[in-house]
Amino acid sequence: MVYRRKELMESNKKIVVLGAGESGVGAAYLAQQQGYEVFVSDFGGITDNYKEQLQGWNIRFEENQHTEAEILKAVEVIKSPGIPDKAPIIKKIKEKAIPIISEIEFAGRYTNAKIIGITGSNGKTTTSSLTYHILKNAGLNVGLAGNIGKSFAYQVATEKFDLYVLEISSFMLDDMFSFKVDIAVLLNITPDHLDRYDYKLENYAASKFRISQNQTAGDYFIYCADDPETIKGMVGRSFAAQQLPFSIEKKIEQGAYLEQDNIVINIHQQHFQMSIHELALQGKHNIYNSMASGIVAKVLELRNPSMRESMGNFKSIEHRLESVAVISGISFINDSKATNVNSTWYALESMTSDVVLILGGVDKGNDYGMLKDLVRQKVKAIVCLGKDNRRIHDAFEDVVEIIVNTYSAQEAATVSYHLATKGDTVLLSPACASFDLFKNYEDRGRQFKQAVKEL
Ligand code: ADP
Repeated sequence: MVYRRKELMESNKKIVVLGAGESGVGAAYLAQQQGYEVFVSDFGGITDNYKEQLQGWNIRFEENQHTEAEILKAVEVIKSPGIPDKAPIIKKIKEKAIPIISEIEFAGRYTNAKIIGITGSNGKTTTSSLTYHILKNAGLNVGLAGNIGKSFAYQVATEKFDLYVLEISSFMLDDMFSFKVDIAVLLNITPDHLDRYDYKLENYAASKFRISQNQTAGDYFIYCADDPETIKGMVGRSFAAQQLPFSIEKKIEQGAYLEQDNIVINIHQQHFQMSIHELALQGKHNIYNSMASGIVAKVLELRNPSMRESMGNFKSIEHRLESVAVISGISFINDSKATNVNSTWYALESMTSDVVLILGGVDKGNDYGMLKDLVRQKVKAIVCLGKDNRRIHDAFEDVVEIIVNTYSAQEAATVSYHLATKGDTVLLSPACASFDLFKNYEDRGRQFKQAVKEL
């Protein structure tokens, strides 16, 4: 009955959803369920499956245009994270003082579930997936959403989870205002997407710290004590939540640290310990990710044997240091998701053999300097996979003897195979975006895997 009254109350209020991707379509569904009149507008084309969904739910939509008269009648606009503030339609909406919110902000109004929000420049998907795996295996009624899988809004409309693990990007955080994350994880802050932040790292960092806004004393803020930008950003900011840092470099009283190859977690009376050699996800970056997930699990007071089992049997995710095959003693690894230099640094850092490194694509103003030491130590050849590879040649010609250009995944796989010898690793970890030669990083990764299988 209450629901019906609310429906009537809101029936003449109009919500406009900008962008008909996973989050927009989910938000439209939830808004309609809550009794709003909904209109979806996308300046590009809408993929067939989303069109079919909207049609099936009788939700009005347009594509390849924004009809201003219609959009400016909204009481509130839900904006896809992909649309920048500079877009003309956003300026018009702001001039009319119509509130613009993210799908997460909107969906958060309609659930009382406990929220675990995970953000950072790198490691979000890995840590969110691992955390979800640990919680689910422990028997909790938990959902996984955000930048991953089915949208949060759609799940709020159709599921009854007690908790959610949300992967949250800085673009989503920018349009979040009242939403509260009960357990916040900030993995790291390194330059990325600066074009959306006036090329100022402090603006991007400020966006990341919004993960802790609205938190109160009963909440938790989990962060990496070894990350210089996080530590810098924390100075002068106040945190109402309890802070639980993690570190590989120093001992931490309340939080997680490394002691002789063991992850140690202490939170209040709770204690957990596990050897890093037993972790399913290997590499220094994954010690951080596992620590962050482990702290969340311990905050929720999960049992140690269950945690240990889940942290030990988690399967790596597609395109993130994913083992593809071993051919003639050469290991092929797909890390296509590494679209910035920092991710590639961690991928290389975790390599234990000589490497043929496949690099390149759309360079977002990369500084390759930070890779040089690791490349000198581990990389015997670089195979460029991009339309324009000059910056890679310039950066590494003094460091690596062999640098070869290739222009397709197949060519890159074949050339790498010939350059590698038994015991080596061929690592696709491009440090660049993919749209010069591929649809997206998934397409790049899949084409690479296919090419490796055909060798
Ligand atoms: P995101 O979702 O934040 O883009 P992913 O979990 O998909 O991050 O990982 C992307 C890539 O970033 C991985 O392939 C790995 O090379 C690197 N990476 C993962 N975790 C971390 C971390 N904690 N710190 C730095 N780099 C990381």
